[in-house]
Amino acid sequence: MIRVGVNGYGTIGKRVADAVRAQPDMEVCGVAKRSPNYVAVGATEAGYPVYAADDDRAHEFAAAGIDLAGSVDKLVAESDVVVDATPSGVGAENRPLYEHHDTPALFQGGEDATVAEVSFNARVNYDEAEDADYVRVVSCNTTGLSRFLAPLYENYGIEKARVTLVRRGGDPDQTGRGPINDAVPDPISIPSHHGPDVQTIFPKLDIDTIGLKVPTTMMHLHTVNVTLENEPDDVTEIRDRLRSEDRILTIPDYAGIDGAGTLKDFALDAGRPRGDIWENCVWEESITLRGRDLYCMQAIHQESDVVPENVDAIRALSGHLTGPESRSLTNETLGIGF
Ligand code: NAD
Repeated sequence: MIRVGVNGYGTIGKRVADAVRAQPDMEVCGVAKRSPNYVAVGATEAGYPVYAADDDRAHEFAAAGIDLAGSVDKLVAESDVVVDATPSGVGAENRPLYEHHDTPALFQGGEDATVAEVSFNARVNYDEAEDADYVRVVSCNTTGLSRFLAPLYENYGIEKARVTLVRRGGDPDQTGRGPINDAVPDPISIPSHHGPDVQTIFPKLDIDTIGLKVPTTMMHLHTVNVTLENEPDDVTEIRDRLRSEDRILTIPDYAGIDGAGTLKDFALDAGRPRGDIWENCVWEESITLRGRDLYCMQAIHQESDVVPENVDAIRALSGHLTGPESRSLTNETLGIGF
Protein backbone atom coordinates (compact mmCIF):
# COMPACT_ATOMS: atom_id res chain seq x y z
CA MET A 1 0.00 0.00 0.00
CA ILE A 2 1.29 3.45 -0.89
CA ARG A 3 0.49 5.84 1.95
CA VAL A 4 -0.52 9.17 0.43
CA GLY A 5 -0.79 12.48 2.28
CA VAL A 6 -2.64 15.36 0.67
CA ASN A 7 -1.36 18.81 1.63
CA GLY A 8 -3.88 21.45 0.52
CA TYR A 9 -7.42 20.16 0.50
CA GLY A 10 -9.32 22.42 -1.89
CA THR A 11 -10.68 21.97 -5.41
CA ILE A 12 -7.92 19.64 -6.56
CA GLY A 13 -6.86 18.15 -3.21
CA LYS A 14 -10.29 16.85 -2.20
CA ARG A 15 -10.76 15.19 -5.59
CA VAL A 16 -7.29 13.63 -5.52
CA ALA A 17 -7.95 12.28 -2.00
CA ASP A 18 -11.17 10.58 -3.14
CA ALA A 19 -9.46 9.18 -6.24
CA VAL A 20 -6.55 7.83 -4.16
CA ARG A 21 -8.99 6.20 -1.77
CA ALA A 22 -10.56 4.35 -4.72
CA GLN A 23 -7.22 2.69 -5.61
CA PRO A 24 -6.52 -0.86 -4.40
CA ASP A 25 -2.80 -0.13 -3.92
CA MET A 26 -3.06 3.22 -2.09
CA GLU A 27 -4.46 4.69 1.09
CA VAL A 28 -5.00 8.27 2.23
CA CYS A 29 -3.11 8.74 5.48
CA GLY A 30 -4.50 12.22 5.95
CA VAL A 31 -5.15 15.65 4.53
CA ALA A 32 -3.69 18.96 5.65
CA LYS A 33 -5.94 21.96 5.73
CA ARG A 34 -5.28 25.57 6.60
CA SER A 35 -8.72 26.78 7.58
CA PRO A 36 -11.60 24.91 9.29
CA ASN A 37 -14.24 25.70 6.68
CA TYR A 38 -16.97 23.51 5.17
CA VAL A 39 -14.38 21.63 3.10
CA ALA A 40 -12.48 20.70 6.28
CA VAL A 41 -15.74 19.54 7.87
CA GLY A 42 -16.34 17.49 4.70
CA ALA A 43 -12.91 15.88 5.09
CA THR A 44 -13.73 14.69 8.61
CA GLU A 45 -17.14 13.44 7.47
CA ALA A 46 -15.40 11.54 4.66
CA GLY A 47 -13.24 9.90 7.32
CA TYR A 48 -9.91 11.50 6.43
CA PRO A 49 -7.61 12.34 9.34
CA VAL A 50 -7.20 16.14 9.22
CA TYR A 51 -3.85 17.78 9.96
CA ALA A 52 -3.23 21.46 10.54
CA ALA A 53 -1.23 23.09 7.76
CA ASP A 54 -0.65 26.09 10.01
CA ASP A 55 0.06 25.43 13.73
CA ASP A 56 -0.94 28.99 14.63
CA ARG A 57 -4.48 28.27 13.45
CA ALA A 58 -4.87 24.82 15.02
CA HIS A 59 -7.11 26.21 17.80
CA GLU A 60 -9.64 27.36 15.16
CA PHE A 61 -10.25 23.71 14.22
CA ALA A 62 -11.12 22.82 17.81
CA ALA A 63 -13.58 25.72 17.88
CA ALA A 64 -15.23 24.29 14.73
CA GLY A 65 -15.48 20.85 16.33
CA ILE A 66 -12.78 19.26 14.15
CA ASP A 67 -10.35 16.94 15.92
CA LEU A 68 -6.90 17.33 14.46
CA ALA A 69 -4.62 14.34 13.94
CA GLY A 70 -1.53 16.54 14.23
CA SER A 71 0.44 19.05 12.25
CA VAL A 72 1.39 18.84 8.57
CA ASP A 73 4.93 17.94 9.64
CA LYS A 74 3.62 14.66 11.09
CA LEU A 75 1.55 13.96 7.99
CA VAL A 76 4.59 14.37 5.74
CA ALA A 77 6.66 12.11 8.01
CA GLU A 78 4.00 9.37 7.87
CA SER A 79 3.42 9.53 4.10
CA ASP A 80 5.21 7.59 1.36
CA VAL A 81 4.20 10.31 -1.10
CA VAL A 82 2.68 13.74 -0.55
CA VAL A 83 0.36 15.33 -3.08
CA ASP A 84 0.79 19.07 -2.66
CA ALA A 85 -2.39 20.77 -3.88
CA THR A 86 -1.90 24.11 -2.19
CA PRO A 87 -2.50 27.39 -4.09
CA SER A 88 -0.04 28.42 -6.81
CA GLY A 89 3.36 29.26 -5.41
CA VAL A 90 2.79 27.68 -1.98
CA GLY A 91 3.97 24.30 -3.25
CA ALA A 92 7.46 25.67 -3.92
CA GLU A 93 7.55 27.05 -0.36
CA ASN A 94 6.59 23.58 0.93
CA ARG A 95 9.30 21.70 -0.94
CA PRO A 96 11.90 22.06 1.89
CA LEU A 97 9.42 20.36 4.24
CA TYR A 98 9.23 17.35 1.94
CA GLU A 99 13.01 17.33 1.49
CA HIS A 100 13.48 17.48 5.26
CA HIS A 101 11.47 14.24 5.66
CA ASP A 102 12.87 12.68 2.50
CA THR A 103 9.29 12.25 1.28
CA PRO A 104 8.70 12.31 -2.48
CA ALA A 105 6.06 14.82 -3.55
CA LEU A 106 3.81 15.80 -6.40
CA PHE A 107 3.17 19.46 -7.17
CA GLN A 108 0.43 20.98 -9.31
CA GLY A 109 0.37 23.03 -12.47
CA GLY A 110 0.18 26.38 -10.69
CA GLU A 111 3.83 25.96 -9.71
CA ASP A 112 6.73 26.89 -11.96
CA ALA A 113 8.20 23.93 -13.80
CA THR A 114 11.39 24.44 -11.79
CA VAL A 115 9.66 23.19 -8.61
CA ALA A 116 10.23 19.57 -9.70
CA GLU A 117 12.56 17.41 -11.74
CA VAL A 118 9.82 16.35 -14.15
CA SER A 119 6.62 17.88 -15.53
CA PHE A 120 4.21 14.99 -15.92
CA ASN A 121 1.46 13.73 -18.19
CA ALA A 122 0.55 10.04 -17.83
CA ARG A 123 -0.09 9.56 -21.55
CA VAL A 124 3.19 11.12 -22.70
CA ASN A 125 6.03 10.75 -20.20
CA TYR A 126 5.07 8.42 -17.32
CA ASP A 127 8.50 6.73 -17.44
CA GLU A 128 10.38 9.99 -16.84
CA ALA A 129 8.92 10.21 -13.32
CA GLU A 130 10.22 6.82 -12.26
CA ASP A 131 13.62 8.09 -11.14
CA ALA A 132 12.33 11.39 -9.76
CA ASP A 133 11.51 12.41 -6.19
CA TYR A 134 9.58 15.54 -7.17
CA VAL A 135 7.08 15.67 -10.00
CA ARG A 136 4.82 18.46 -11.23
CA VAL A 137 1.48 17.35 -12.66
CA VAL A 138 0.87 19.96 -15.35
CA SER A 139 -2.16 22.26 -15.34
CA CYS A 140 -5.66 21.41 -16.51
CA ASN A 141 -5.12 23.13 -19.87
CA THR A 142 -1.68 21.60 -20.43
CA THR A 143 -3.03 18.16 -19.49
CA GLY A 144 -5.89 18.55 -21.97
CA LEU A 145 -3.60 19.72 -24.76
CA SER A 146 -1.01 17.00 -24.10
CA ARG A 147 -3.62 14.27 -24.32
CA PHE A 148 -4.97 15.70 -27.58
CA LEU A 149 -1.63 16.29 -29.23
CA ALA A 150 0.01 12.98 -28.23
CA PRO A 151 -1.62 10.70 -30.84
CA LEU A 152 -1.10 13.34 -33.57
CA TYR A 153 2.54 13.84 -32.62
CA GLU A 154 3.22 10.10 -32.61
CA ASN A 155 1.38 9.20 -35.81
CA TYR A 156 1.82 12.18 -38.14
CA GLY A 157 4.37 14.53 -36.60
CA ILE A 158 3.38 18.13 -35.82
CA GLU A 159 4.78 21.01 -37.86
CA LYS A 160 2.96 23.67 -35.84
CA ALA A 161 0.14 23.81 -33.29
CA ARG A 162 -1.98 26.92 -32.71
CA VAL A 163 -4.46 26.97 -29.86
CA THR A 164 -6.91 29.54 -28.53
CA LEU A 165 -7.91 28.85 -24.93
CA VAL A 166 -11.29 30.24 -23.91
CA ARG A 167 -10.84 29.96 -20.17
CA ARG A 168 -13.46 29.81 -17.44
CA GLY A 169 -13.35 32.94 -15.29
CA GLY A 170 -13.07 30.94 -12.06
CA ASP A 171 -14.12 27.73 -10.34
CA PRO A 172 -17.65 27.58 -8.87
CA ASP A 173 -16.33 28.25 -5.34
CA GLN A 174 -14.22 31.24 -6.41
CA THR A 175 -16.84 33.88 -5.76
CA GLY A 176 -14.43 36.77 -6.18
CA ARG A 177 -13.21 35.91 -9.68
CA GLY A 178 -14.45 37.11 -13.01
CA PRO A 179 -15.11 38.62 -15.45
CA ILE A 180 -18.83 38.88 -14.67
CA ASN A 181 -19.91 40.52 -17.91
CA ASP A 182 -17.00 40.72 -20.28
CA ALA A 183 -14.62 38.78 -22.52
CA VAL A 184 -11.07 39.58 -21.51
CA PRO A 185 -7.80 38.82 -23.30
CA ASP A 186 -5.80 37.03 -20.60
CA PRO A 187 -2.95 37.37 -20.96
CA ILE A 188 -2.99 40.12 -23.60
CA SER A 189 0.52 39.20 -24.71
CA ILE A 190 0.93 36.45 -27.27
CA PRO A 191 1.86 33.66 -26.89
CA SER A 192 0.22 32.99 -23.56
CA HIS A 193 2.14 30.95 -20.97
CA HIS A 194 0.25 27.80 -21.98
CA GLY A 195 2.42 27.10 -25.05
CA PRO A 196 5.70 27.03 -23.11
CA ASP A 197 3.99 24.88 -20.50
CA VAL A 198 2.99 22.32 -23.14
CA GLN A 199 6.65 22.34 -24.18
CA THR A 200 7.58 21.02 -20.73
CA ILE A 201 5.84 17.83 -21.93
CA PHE A 202 6.77 18.05 -25.64
CA PRO A 203 10.13 19.90 -25.64
CA LYS A 204 10.43 19.98 -29.45
CA LEU A 205 6.86 20.98 -30.24
CA ASP A 206 6.28 24.24 -32.13
CA ILE A 207 3.15 25.67 -30.47
CA ASP A 208 1.62 29.13 -30.06
CA THR A 209 -1.27 29.77 -27.70
CA ILE A 210 -3.64 32.67 -27.11
CA GLY A 211 -5.70 32.97 -23.93
CA LEU A 212 -8.87 34.79 -22.92
CA LYS A 213 -11.32 34.60 -20.03
CA VAL A 214 -15.10 34.53 -20.16
CA PRO A 215 -17.87 34.59 -17.53
CA THR A 216 -18.42 30.90 -16.85
CA THR A 217 -17.31 28.50 -14.11
CA MET A 218 -18.08 25.34 -16.08
CA MET A 219 -15.15 24.40 -18.30
CA HIS A 220 -12.38 25.67 -20.56
CA LEU A 221 -12.89 25.47 -24.30
CA HIS A 222 -9.98 25.07 -26.73
CA THR A 223 -10.02 25.76 -30.45
CA VAL A 224 -7.09 23.86 -31.92
CA ASN A 225 -5.38 24.10 -35.30
CA VAL A 226 -2.57 21.64 -35.90
CA THR A 227 -0.49 21.57 -39.08
CA LEU A 228 0.60 17.94 -39.35
CA GLU A 229 3.88 16.90 -40.97
CA ASN A 230 2.26 13.98 -42.78
CA GLU A 231 -1.25 14.07 -44.23
CA PRO A 232 -3.74 11.51 -42.87
CA ASP A 233 -5.84 9.52 -45.38
CA ASP A 234 -9.00 11.23 -44.26
CA VAL A 235 -10.76 12.82 -41.31
CA THR A 236 -12.24 9.48 -40.25
CA GLU A 237 -8.75 8.24 -39.47
CA ILE A 238 -8.21 11.15 -37.07
CA ARG A 239 -11.60 10.70 -35.46
CA ASP A 240 -10.92 6.99 -34.89
CA ARG A 241 -7.54 7.72 -33.35
CA LEU A 242 -9.08 10.22 -30.94
CA ARG A 243 -11.91 7.77 -30.16
CA SER A 244 -9.38 5.12 -29.18
CA GLU A 245 -7.65 7.37 -26.63
CA ASP A 246 -8.68 6.33 -23.12
CA ARG A 247 -8.91 9.85 -21.69
CA ILE A 248 -10.56 11.51 -24.65
CA LEU A 249 -14.34 11.45 -24.87
CA THR A 250 -15.47 12.08 -28.44
CA ILE A 251 -18.95 13.55 -28.55
CA PRO A 252 -21.07 12.23 -31.41
CA ASP A 253 -23.34 14.63 -33.29
CA TYR A 254 -26.52 12.75 -32.27
CA ALA A 255 -25.85 13.29 -28.52
CA GLY A 256 -27.14 16.86 -28.65
CA ILE A 257 -24.31 18.01 -26.40
CA ASP A 258 -23.77 21.52 -27.64
CA GLY A 259 -21.64 23.13 -24.97
CA ALA A 260 -20.10 22.96 -21.51
CA GLY A 261 -23.52 23.25 -19.82
CA THR A 262 -24.89 20.12 -21.50
CA LEU A 263 -21.61 18.31 -20.84
CA LYS A 264 -21.88 19.03 -17.13
CA ASP A 265 -25.55 18.01 -17.16
CA PHE A 266 -24.55 14.75 -18.88
CA ALA A 267 -21.88 14.08 -16.25
CA LEU A 268 -24.33 14.70 -13.41
CA ASP A 269 -26.93 12.43 -15.04
CA ALA A 270 -24.24 9.75 -15.35
CA GLY A 271 -23.70 9.95 -11.59
CA ARG A 272 -20.19 11.33 -11.80
CA PRO A 273 -18.98 12.56 -8.38
CA ARG A 274 -19.28 16.36 -8.21
CA GLY A 275 -20.27 16.25 -11.92
CA ASP A 276 -16.60 15.70 -12.77
CA ILE A 277 -15.41 15.01 -16.30
CA TRP A 278 -11.91 13.53 -16.16
CA GLU A 279 -11.67 13.16 -19.95
CA ASN A 280 -11.05 15.72 -22.70
CA CYS A 281 -14.37 16.29 -24.48
CA VAL A 282 -13.86 16.55 -28.25
CA TRP A 283 -16.74 17.43 -30.53
CA GLU A 284 -16.57 14.95 -33.42
CA GLU A 285 -18.35 17.34 -35.77
CA SER A 286 -15.61 19.91 -35.22
CA ILE A 287 -12.81 17.57 -36.36
CA THR A 288 -11.96 19.00 -39.77
CA LEU A 289 -9.10 18.29 -42.14
CA ARG A 290 -7.86 20.67 -44.87
CA GLY A 291 -4.82 18.97 -46.34
CA ARG A 292 -2.33 18.78 -43.47
CA ASP A 293 -4.30 21.28 -41.37
CA LEU A 294 -6.44 19.78 -38.62
CA TYR A 295 -9.06 21.84 -36.77
CA CYS A 296 -10.98 20.83 -33.68
CA MET A 297 -12.77 22.05 -30.55
CA GLN A 298 -12.55 20.45 -27.12
CA ALA A 299 -13.79 21.23 -23.62
CA ILE A 300 -11.70 20.62 -20.52
CA HIS A 301 -13.13 20.29 -17.02
CA GLN A 302 -10.58 22.30 -15.10
CA GLU A 303 -11.49 20.91 -11.67
CA SER A 304 -11.00 17.25 -12.52
CA ASP A 305 -8.93 16.36 -15.60
CA VAL A 306 -5.69 16.40 -13.59
CA VAL A 307 -7.06 14.01 -10.94
CA PRO A 308 -6.30 10.70 -12.73
CA GLU A 309 -2.92 12.18 -13.71
CA ASN A 310 -2.10 12.67 -10.01
CA VAL A 311 -3.01 9.05 -9.27
CA ASP A 312 -0.76 7.83 -12.08
CA ALA A 313 2.05 10.15 -11.00
CA ILE A 314 1.97 8.61 -7.51
CA ARG A 315 2.49 5.17 -9.08
CA ALA A 316 5.15 6.47 -11.44
CA LEU A 317 7.13 7.77 -8.46
CA SER A 318 6.79 4.49 -6.60
CA GLY A 319 7.67 2.55 -9.75
CA HIS A 320 5.61 -0.60 -9.20
CA LEU A 321 3.41 -0.43 -12.33
CA THR A 322 4.09 0.55 -15.94
CA GLY A 323 2.33 3.56 -17.43
CA PRO A 324 -0.29 1.54 -19.35
CA GLU A 325 -0.95 -0.66 -16.29
CA SER A 326 -1.38 2.34 -14.03
CA ARG A 327 -3.60 4.25 -16.46
CA SER A 328 -5.80 1.25 -16.98
CA LEU A 329 -6.17 0.65 -13.21
CA THR A 330 -6.92 4.33 -12.59
CA ASN A 331 -9.48 4.39 -15.40
CA GLU A 332 -11.19 1.27 -14.13
CA THR A 333 -11.37 2.34 -10.49
CA LEU A 334 -12.61 5.86 -11.23
CA GLY A 335 -14.96 4.86 -14.06
CA ILE A 336 -13.18 6.83 -16.76
CA GLY A 337 -14.65 6.35 -20.23
CA PHE A 338 -18.44 6.48 -20.33
P1 NAD B 1 -7.80 25.82 -3.88
O1 NAD B 1 -7.64 27.21 -3.44
O2 NAD B 1 -9.16 25.32 -4.25
O3 NAD B 1 -7.27 24.81 -2.76
C1 NAD B 1 -6.06 25.03 -2.11
C2 NAD B 1 -6.20 24.53 -0.68
O4 NAD B 1 -4.96 24.69 -0.01
C3 NAD B 1 -7.23 25.30 0.12
O5 NAD B 1 -7.97 24.37 0.89
C4 NAD B 1 -6.39 26.19 1.04
O6 NAD B 1 -7.04 26.45 2.26
C5 NAD B 1 -5.19 25.32 1.26
N1 NAD B 1 -3.98 26.03 1.65
C6 NAD B 1 -3.65 27.32 1.47
N2 NAD B 1 -2.41 27.57 1.91
C7 NAD B 1 -1.95 26.39 2.41
C8 NAD B 1 -0.76 25.99 3.02
N3 NAD B 1 0.23 26.86 3.24
N4 NAD B 1 -0.61 24.70 3.38
C9 NAD B 1 -1.61 23.79 3.16
N5 NAD B 1 -2.78 24.13 2.58
C10 NAD B 1 -2.95 25.41 2.22
O7 NAD B 1 -6.77 25.61 -5.07
P2 NAD B 1 -6.89 24.57 -6.26
O8 NAD B 1 -7.76 25.15 -7.32
O9 NAD B 1 -7.20 23.24 -5.74
O10 NAD B 1 -5.41 24.65 -6.86
C11 NAD B 1 -4.35 23.93 -6.26
C12 NAD B 1 -3.25 23.76 -7.27
O11 NAD B 1 -3.78 23.01 -8.39
C13 NAD B 1 -2.70 25.06 -7.86
O12 NAD B 1 -1.35 24.86 -8.20
C14 NAD B 1 -3.52 25.21 -9.14
O13 NAD B 1 -2.88 26.00 -10.11
C15 NAD B 1 -3.62 23.76 -9.58
N6 NAD B 1 -4.74 23.47 -10.48
C16 NAD B 1 -5.96 24.04 -10.26
C17 NAD B 1 -6.99 23.78 -11.15
C18 NAD B 1 -8.34 24.41 -11.00
O14 NAD B 1 -9.01 24.66 -11.99
N7 NAD B 1 -8.82 24.69 -9.80
C19 NAD B 1 -6.78 22.91 -12.22
C20 NAD B 1 -5.54 22.29 -12.37
C21 NAD B 1 -4.52 22.60 -11.49
